[in-house]
Amino acid sequence: TEGRLVSARAARLGASHILIVVDDVTEQERLEQMRHDFVANTSHELKTPVGAVSLLAEAIDSAADDPPQVRAFAARLQAEADRLTRLTSRIMDLSRLQSADEVPQAREVSVDEVVVASVEAHALQADSGGVTVVRGGDRGAVVSGDSTMLIEAVGNLIANAIAYSPRGARVGVGVRIDGPVVEIAVTDQGIGIAESDQQRIFERFYRADVARSRRTGGTGLGLAIVKHAVQRHGGEVRVWSRLGRGSTFTIRLPRYEPPVKHGSKRRKSAD
Ligand code: ADP
Repeated sequence: TEGRLVSARAARLGASHILIVVDDVTEQERLEQMRHDFVANTSHELKTPVGAVSLLAEAIDSAADDPPQVRAFAARLQAEADRLTRLTSRIMDLSRLQSADEVPQAREVSVDEVVVASVEAHALQADSGGVTVVRGGDRGAVVSGDSTMLIEAVGNLIANAIAYSPRGARVGVGVRIDGPVVEIAVTDQGIGIAESDQQRIFERFYRADVARSRRTGGTGLGLAIVKHAVQRHGGEVRVWSRLGRGSTFTIRLPRYEPPVKHGSKRRKSAD
C-alpha cells in the first residue's frame, strides 16, 4: 500500500522518521480492520432475518390453499421485515457516528428538553411493557451539541431499561449538575447485567442474553450507538449493575460554557 511505500522510504531517511510513519500505517490498518469487522458483523447479522424472510415467502407459497396459515405466515413475514428495517436504520446510524466526517452540531442544547423528548419517544413502549418512567433531578442544565443525537442516546438507554424490566417496574431518568459535568442517569429495577458482560455490552452486536434481546426486538446496536454519540460530545457512558437487581447507565457530558462576552467582568482563571 501507499503507506508502506512511504514508511520504506522513511526508513532510509533516519530512525527519527520511522516511528511517526509506522504509527500512521498502524492507524490506517486499524481503521481498515474496523471497517472490515463492521461489514463482516453486519452481513452476519443480516443473514438471519433475510433467511427468515425467504423461508416465510416459500411457506406462504406452499400454504396457498389454507388462508389462515397464509395470514399467519404473512404476519411473521411482516415482523421480520420490520426487524430488518430497524436493523438497517440502526446500522446506518452507527456507521454515520463512526465516520470521522460526521461532526455533531455545536448548538446549545437544553438537557431538560432532551430528557422530555426521549421519555416521550418511548411512552408507548413503556405503556405496553407496564413500566412507569419517572423524571427527576436538576433542571436547567445546558450542554453543547446535537440534540437529535443526544435524544437518540438517552432514548436508547430508556428503551433498554423498559425492555429489560418486568411489568409493574419503574424506570428513573435523573439529571445531576456536577460542577463542569452534566450527568443523565437511567435507572431500572430489571434483570441486571453480569459483571463479566458489563465490559462488552457497548460493543456492537454484543448481547448478554441473545434470546431475550431477539424477543424484545433488540438489534445489539443500541449501546454502541449510545457510546459513539456520547463520545462525539466529549462525554462518556458508564454502567453499574447487579444481576437480578437492576442497572444504572450514566451519560456524563461537559456542561455548556457560554462564550466570554467582550467587556464583561469575568473573573480570570488561576492560569
Ligand atoms: P439490544 O438491542 O440487544 O438491547 P444493546 O446494545 O442496546 O442491544 O444492549 C446490549 C446488551 O446489553 C443487551 O442485549 C442486553 O443483554 C444488555 N442490556 C442493555 N441494557 C440493559 C438493561 N437496562 N438491563 C439489562 N440488560 C441490558
